[in-house]
Amino acid sequence: MCPCGVCGDVDAWVYRSGAVLHGGYGSTRYDTTHLILTDGEGALPGLERICDTCVAGLEEDGKAYPYLMGFGEKPKAAIPPAAYAAIFAHHARITLEALRRHGAGPGRAGSEPPLDRIEALRADLEHDPSRTRSFRVGQLNFAPETIRVARAHVLASVALGANLDGGRIDDAARRYGEAIVENVSLLEGLLDDLVAQDHPSDG
Ligand SMILES: [Zn+2]
Repeated sequence: MCPCGVCGDVDAWVYRSGAVLHGGYGSTRYDTTHLILTDGEGALPGLERICDTCVAGLEEDGKAYPYLMGFGEKPKAAIPPAAYAAIFAHHARITLEALRRHGAGPGRAGSEPPLDRIEALRADLEHDPSRTRSFRVGQLNFAPETIRVARAHVLASVALGANLDGGRIDDAARRYGEAIVENVSLLEGLLDDLVAQDHPSDG
C-alpha cells in the first residue's frame, strides 16, 4: 500500500514532482492529467503521493488546476494568472536544468539585459500569447503555449547572457501570468465598446 501523504487513509495514485501533480494509472479521476500547484510545493512539502479525494480538495480550494490532459480534454475551470505563472516557472526550470546538464547555461553579459529585451527575443523564438491581444483566457487553455514560451524564455536569456539565478525566473513567470490577463482585459474593453456602439441603449 502507498498511502496518501495528506490523509494517510487510502492508496494514492497522483504523484507530485515539484509544483506539478501527475495522475497515474491507478487514479480514477486524474489518470493522464497534470495539475499545477499555484503555491509551488508550499502546500505539500515533501509529499510524493496524494489520493484523488485530497487532490479534488486542492482543486476546490483553488490550490491546484488541471492544465494538461492526456486525451486533450479542455480544463473545466479557467486557469488564473498565478497558475500560468507557476506553469511557466516549473517548465523554465526544467529547461534550465537540461541546459546545465549538457554544459550549457547562463553566462555573464557585460550588463544584465532587461526583461523587455529577453521577452522580445522570446517572442521571436516562440509565439507568445502574453504578447498578443486576440484571445480570452477563460475560454482557452494556453498551458501548452506557456510551456513553450517558458522554454523560449530560458533560451533567449542564455543567448543574451542573462543571469537566471535568484528569483529571475519567478519574476518573468509572474509578469507572464499578469500580462495574459492585462491583454485580455484590454480586448474585452474594446469588444464591450464595440457592442455599445452597435447597440446604443434605448434610454
Ligand atoms: Zn488523501
